[in-house]
Amino acid sequence: MSQLAGDIGEPPERAGRALLKEPAVRETHSMPRLSYEFDIESCWKSIPAWRAVSAEEFSDHQWQLRNSVSSLSGLAKVLGSRLSEGALEEFKRGMQTAPMNMRLTPYLVSLIDWDHPESDPLRRQFIPMASQLLADHPMHQEDSLGEDEDRVAPFLTHRYHDKALFLPTTICPVYCSYCTRSRVVGGSTPVRDKATYGAKQTAWEETFAYIRSHPELEDIVISGGDASMLRPDQLEEIGLTLLGIPHVRRIRIATKGLAILPMQVTSDDGWVKALERVTDFGRKAFKEVCLHTHFGTTREMSQWTVEAMKRLVGIGIKVRNQSVLLRGVNDTFGSMYRLVKSLSWLTIQPYYVYTHDMVPGCEHLRTTIATTEELSKALLGTTAGFNLPRFVCDAPGGGGKREISSYEYYDAQKGISAWTAPRIKPGRVFYYYDPIDELPSEGQAFWRNVEANGAVLEDERSRIEARIRSLSPA
Ligand code: SF4
Repeated sequence: MSQLAGDIGEPPERAGRALLKEPAVRETHSMPRLSYEFDIESCWKSIPAWRAVSAEEFSDHQWQLRNSVSSLSGLAKVLGSRLSEGALEEFKRGMQTAPMNMRLTPYLVSLIDWDHPESDPLRRQFIPMASQLLADHPMHQEDSLGEDEDRVAPFLTHRYHDKALFLPTTICPVYCSYCTRSRVVGGSTPVRDKATYGAKQTAWEETFAYIRSHPELEDIVISGGDASMLRPDQLEEIGLTLLGIPHVRRIRIATKGLAILPMQVTSDDGWVKALERVTDFGRKAFKEVCLHTHFGTTREMSQWTVEAMKRLVGIGIKVRNQSVLLRGVNDTFGSMYRLVKSLSWLTIQPYYVYTHDMVPGCEHLRTTIATTEELSKALLGTTAGFNLPRFVCDAPGGGGKREISSYEYYDAQKGISAWTAPRIKPGRVFYYYDPIDELPSEGQAFWRNVEANGAVLEDERSRIEARIRSLSPA
């Protein structure tokens, strides 16, 4: 840890340390209770429109996709009297400024506590309530991770030396409020025009050609959008083509499907068989094929998850999880501990927990670097090291994932952290900014000054960078 002092002042008070919620601090002394009961029997029966739906229908991925909810009027129709007028009004106003459209699987709708939607961690991830929204941070960016800057082929971002990100589609089975690619994923909204695209096999050759011509690329992430939206033949074509390139050693198939539509794995035989053929091909070629999924809380887990995981384990594919740290969703020790332990029980490796990217429409969901650091520390020693997720900040502007305590500078009062990435973009300094409402009053006053005069922030950054340079080896 390299908190700097000197001409930019003594190390600031770690104001963020006081920001962890009370219960989280208490729970570090008494381990939370765990339950591996994933039975949520007939959860859909509490949704008026689906009371007569049989277990067989609800367990069918096609029924789930056919009955997905993609508008507020659709949600109101499905929920009937379970949706209060107050909540509906909040959603209407929330969606007016949202960068993401609405799309929810019936599975997800059934898991939300509609008696308390304002505090429900699932609702919070997918449907914004106007009164909970905050103004975007002045330093937010549409493309917070600078993915477009590192685009090298139509569907490919190449940032890390040996790894690239292939985005064959920008469509998903659900749309998440916190999506880092809200600039392209999920269709235009009242406040965003987007160049959303579906999977097109004929357009991928240029991307494959780039990968073939770069022997340093050993690792390809297939994401989106969501890989679960690829047809079986598309999934197979991508998987087999990439694994057939001699220098590609690993592919990862990224899908949130397991968390919000486990029925795809339990009932879509065509998709699972395609995944199995890709996995078998990889095994015979002595290469790695993994599925990367995204559970945010244990509330997304059910008996369908258990059955889905049994099937995936059966075909021999390793599953890892990447979560975003979300305020009011999973930002306490108890919620994160339960998530990590439950993932491990399900044989899913907890891999990453990301500090929320600085994209629009998400300020109410972001946490501070101090909170992320505290949670990371609090989890140490709770379980085996290989099941402890790495807490990272994906440095805005394209610095890549940085271990949460590896910042060069952090002022928790002003909420400014500075990061370098010498193996990725040497010589550059990347900044992450904590959400302003979480800062102490002095920090909030600093940002009011910045709003009035941008040079205040420029001066601050110049001092930070001069200090970092002075401490760097020549
Ligand atoms: S599933 Fe992933 S890509 Fe799709 S909206 Fe959610 S976070 Fe974005």
